[in-house]
Amino acid sequence: MVVGLGGVPGAPPAALIHAPLAVEPAPVPRAAFLSAVAAATHFNALAAAVAADPAWMEATLGPAAAAGDAFTARLLALRRGTARTPGDDLALAITRSDYMVDGGGGGLADGGGGAGNKNGGPGPGPAGAVLLQVELNTIASSFGCLGGAASALHADAAARAGWPADARARLPPNSAKASIAAALAAGAAAAGVGTDGIVLFVVQPGERNAYDQASLAEELWVSHGLVTVRATLEEVAAAGRLEGAEGDGPPEDPAAPAAGRPARRLTFGGRPVAVAYLRSGYSPADYPSEAAWTGRALLERSTAAVCPTAAWQLAGSKKVQQALAGAGVTEAFLERAGCAPPAAAQVRSHYAGLWSLDPGDHVTDASPDGKSALAALLQDAAARPGAYVLKPQREGGGNNTYGAQLAAAAAAAVADLGAGGSGGLGAFILMQRIQPAPHGATLVRGGVAPPAPVPCISELGIFGAWLGRGGVGGGPPLLNAPAGHLVRTKPAGADEGGVAAGFAVLSSPYLVG
Ligand code: ADP
Ligand code: MG
Repeated sequence: MVVGLGGVPGAPPAALIHAPLAVEPAPVPRAAFLSAVAAATHFNALAAAVAADPAWMEATLGPAAAAGDAFTARLLALRRGTARTPGDDLALAITRSDYMVDGGGGGLADGGGGAGNKNGGPGPGPAGAVLLQVELNTIASSFGCLGGAASALHADAAARAGWPADARARLPPNSAKASIAAALAAGAAAAGVGTDGIVLFVVQPGERNAYDQASLAEELWVSHGLVTVRATLEEVAAAGRLEGAEGDGPPEDPAAPAAGRPARRLTFGGRPVAVAYLRSGYSPADYPSEAAWTGRALLERSTAAVCPTAAWQLAGSKKVQQALAGAGVTEAFLERAGCAPPAAAQVRSHYAGLWSLDPGDHVTDASPDGKSALAALLQDAAARPGAYVLKPQREGGGNNTYGAQLAAAAAAAVADLGAGGSGGLGAFILMQRIQPAPHGATLVRGGVAPPAPVPCISELGIFGAWLGRGGVGGGPPLLNAPAGHLVRTKPAGADEGGVAAGFAVLSSPYLVG
């Protein structure tokens, strides 16, 4: 259970330190946990259906991209320019749906912020204890292996400490490492490149979380006989080749026809690539050069099981999450995916309040251009910033706006709307701030445990695995299953939550109720 030491002057490059961890597991209501696990396949089906609908994705993300989000615009262009023929488009996804228990205290249940709430769902109930979704990660969903190690550590510690059997049974087994490796192996089998096909881990240079990945690579070798090769996107561009890319077909035209082109076999350093597993590529910083984008395009065009495709990555964006909460949207996608209506109801029961910040999405009879309705929402956010989170289309932590900064951004947008502008926040979404009840935990960092537990809040991630081709209509998925879990715990005062980003520590769930 280690991470790279990183950033310590004088330390050798290979120096390791334990991953930050909580001594105590985090309480999670049992029924809510089971509902989130059961929802994993529905969330996968939903994202798959979105990824298979380029027109909806363009209509939903295009305005956000045009409102100043160059990264989203580039991903949309990548998807457009690299589309593979349906049936050729093998896609693999390792998802992680993140949740927090909403206690119902101080949230939006008190009636504020109702205007334009795109969530038709029930919101925080009086009984509390609903797991509301923070976000669905569809790219580089990390900490499966270290999260599994945290579960094992807590189970072992509980046994050594003599916990009674009924208490120990409240620590659910965590299959993340085996499940995620099995999904990658299924992708390799479906890619049909032969037994010498490699699993390409596409990584960031200097990754501190390389040992979470190394543990997965080890599992791939030991349990599936698969060889992993690590490379950055720029290295993929340098050593990757698409078979027949020169000479036997249309040129690699970024404005390629929407119907797509046949996939081509990809080799890396001369070895066929069966699976391209991205643990990079989610942030603009992962594309320091045009070569990095070239590397990504090679993956997109290949016969490999791409985890994820650009379409799947976009399906996990904040703007899509907000749009899916709109009346009937989740229901329509899940119906198309062949999921019965109770699936949509279950998915929706996990939605927090989500609002578009594009005036065009707030048009009503009383607000024909949507501006006054959006201004009313933003006025509430400026007055009660603790009830909201402001989010851009970014992944990886540290990007959101809270509190006083949120109030200032909302007030500036209100002023802009008043002056005839569009508010300037069309590339962002506004989200209900989930308000978990604190629990005590001892957070161990850098080998040092504080003398006593401190008030903390925890976030539960449920992993899912999906493999399929041809999108909706291309037959049922080859794989759609829950794939383990992860708990991250942070001091109650902290806004952001990433472990790699230094805010949170690893933990595991203790099922209560
Ligand atoms: P990223 O893609 O950068 O990880 P997230 O949406 O997961 O963005 O937000 C980062 C962190 O901020 C989360 O892990 C969580 O701790 C906190 N956070 C995000 N949204 C909310 C919310 N609606 N309510 C409370 N905390 C939130
Ligand atoms: Mg996140």
